[in-house]
Amino acid sequence: MKIAFIGLGNMGGGMAANLVKAGHRVNAFDLSTDALARALENGCATFTSVRDAVDGVDAVVSMLPNGSIVDSVFENDVLGYAPTGAVLLDCSTIDVDTARKVTADAVAAGYDMVDAPVSGGIAAANGGTLTFMVGGTDTAFARAEPILSAMGKAVIHAGGSGAGQAAKICNNMLLGASMIATCETFAMAEKLGLDLQTFYDISSKASGQNWSMTSYCPVPGVGPTSPADNDYQGGFATALMLKDLKLAIEAAQSVNADVPMGARAAELYAQFDADGKGGMDFSAIIQSLKN
Ligand code: NAD
Repeated sequence: MKIAFIGLGNMGGGMAANLVKAGHRVNAFDLSTDALARALENGCATFTSVRDAVDGVDAVVSMLPNGSIVDSVFENDVLGYAPTGAVLLDCSTIDVDTARKVTADAVAAGYDMVDAPVSGGIAAANGGTLTFMVGGTDTAFARAEPILSAMGKAVIHAGGSGAGQAAKICNNMLLGASMIATCETFAMAEKLGLDLQTFYDISSKASGQNWSMTSYCPVPGVGPTSPADNDYQGGFATALMLKDLKLAIEAAQSVNADVPMGARAAELYAQFDADGKGGMDFSAIIQSLKN
């Protein structure tokens, strides 16, 4: 297939390279010349405008920073410029309402479109092991699935338009809250004089067990290797967790859902980010909870 890829940053760069490896011809566009130079090295053809990149393609994939950029790129430069036979896939993490609006506009213009945000970070994007949560009609999902499979290990149809974004922010709200609960628990265990490895051995086999503890332990030297063992570098940046929590709180307000734990997690990550820790892995919040 001939696929236009818009937004070849930390995530999109590796994803586009995996489409090339799977045998697709990829037309790349990004505002950054560095990103385009890397795309060229990875076998993409590069373009100086979205309109030129989407001309004559079978599919358009986007991986962009936020909802207003996704909206403006699709409204101004994709709809009416890509052939109507093309399937459109937005893999960015954006708010549910904008995802639904962009898809509704695309459908009105004659396209099939899915929202397909990802779970997994830069390593999973490079390695082709992302998990995609997909919102859209059965027809749009069936058309998007083979393209997404070339970039990921799992592609799950979450429901209609916007359901991919809804699943992503619900999952990440749970992750943010459970990470904070895990961090404050280990901080308290230490103050109570428990050996943290011993507490891990107990709690990881007891009812406190959760992913933030047993797959991503925030305590250095305890549990499997995690960003805590690398001075909280790499992994999933606090700033990105905060972005997802803000989207989750916004979505909760739009449907009048009561999310006290999610809201508190958002406050604590906002404070940690304001303390200049936005670039550290989100498990590093244990440091501020210890203090
Ligand atoms: P990034 O900032 O590295 O990349 C975004 C790219 O989009 C940049 O290269 C930028 O130049 C380009 N861009 C911005 N505006 C553009 C426009 N109008 N036209 C074309 N290109 C434009 O960000 P990222 O880390 O790759 O994240 C991309 C998306 O993936 C975000 O929505 C993020 O929330 C989501 N995400 C990121 C991670 C992660 O670990 N980085 C994990 C899961 C999901």
